Amino acid sequence: MRLYAYICIVDARRLHELISFLAQPRRLAITTHHKPDGDALGSSLALCRMLNKMGHQATVVSPCDWPSFLNWLPGASDIIDFESAASVAKQALSEADLLFCLDFNDLGRIYRMGEVVKTLECPMVMIDHHTHPSAFDTYRYHDVSASSTCELIYRLALEVGWSAHIDAEVAECLYCGTMTDTGSFKFPSTTPAVHRMIADLMERGADHYKVHSQVYDQMGVHVLRFLGYCFSEKLRLLPEYAVAYFAITAEEVKRFGLQTGDTEGLVHYALNIEGVRMAVLIIDRNERVKMSFRSRGAVPVHEFARQWFDGGGHYNAAGGQSTDSLERTEARFLEVLPAFVNTWGEHMPPPLPEHD
Ligand code: 5GP
Ligand code: MN
Repeated sequence: MRLYAYICIVDARRLHELISFLAQPRRLAITTHHKPDGDALGSSLALCRMLNKMGHQATVVSPCDWPSFLNWLPGASDIIDFESAASVAKQALSEADLLFCLDFNDLGRIYRMGEVVKTLECPMVMIDHHTHPSAFDTYRYHDVSASSTCELIYRLALEVGWSAHIDAEVAECLYCGTMTDTGSFKFPSTTPAVHRMIADLMERGADHYKVHSQVYDQMGVHVLRFLGYCFSEKLRLLPEYAVAYFAITAEEVKRFGLQTGDTEGLVHYALNIEGVRMAVLIIDRNERVKMSFRSRGAVPVHEFARQWFDGGGHYNAAGGQSTDSLERTEARFLEVLPAFVNTWGEHMPPPLPEHD
């Protein structure tokens, strides 16, 4: 049975244990969630580069492919994709002395790779900011009030004396993940500490304009056409519930030639509508129907996703899935929505981020 040692960010003793383990060169693997986003890959590549600079042999293994607008991240070309290079990925995982699990907290989030990870004997370190962590880890650095896993990697680096390894490349990885997870420093999780970190990352060489341009200004024309189609044809407004949503069919995904990452951001537009408190994207990904939930204020979409759609995430940003058809998933969503809307207001607002 795996030793379960909860490390909260104030537990310096356990942190010391982990750092002692890293005092000699180790073979390390780093992984993150399925369809990794800017925070998932930014935090993984930042940690990987720091560990390699310290003399370890670290490798990032992704459960699957990622959006092409993240390919510029330093080290992205060395990531092993479990789906397209399964045997190389399995070897990297089985040879690791330690596995870092970044930006997720349940093995279900790494899909098929979870079956391999479950069989590993090595200790595992969870570094994450989502709610409801499962106990698969050996060491944990977890804080739901953190803006991003990148912020946690930065805090960890400062706490354990790795800050000299935050070079311009690491800084750009951390900048990228913090930027994408905070909606470009807009969400309430953007504390003064986040801005201080960003200032430090810029002083270490992060080119903020380059990062923003790489992530947001490389859109394929087909994506813009798809967005236009969604706005004019697909947006469904439920004014009585203050909800707006899109339901996208597999045929539409194919027709517009959508690739991984092309729908990122779509759900946010529905939340831009005046009066809307919850926005949802339901999309048929063939293998399963995926859902994205976003909300404003005291609307705990992570609970809704957990209760009805086998998902979870953050208070105001969560995801889920369904093995039903798109039509049945949409019908179920519309069926369970009124009861959820009725609970709004009874819920406490999301925990206020700590200001220091
Ligand atoms: P997105 O809608 O951008 O895919 O995800 C929003 C947030 O919810 C992210 O923090 C993501 O990691 C999390 N998330 C997305 N899908 C799932 C899911 O199926 N299960 C859980 N637990 N979290 C998810
Ligand atoms: Mn994140």
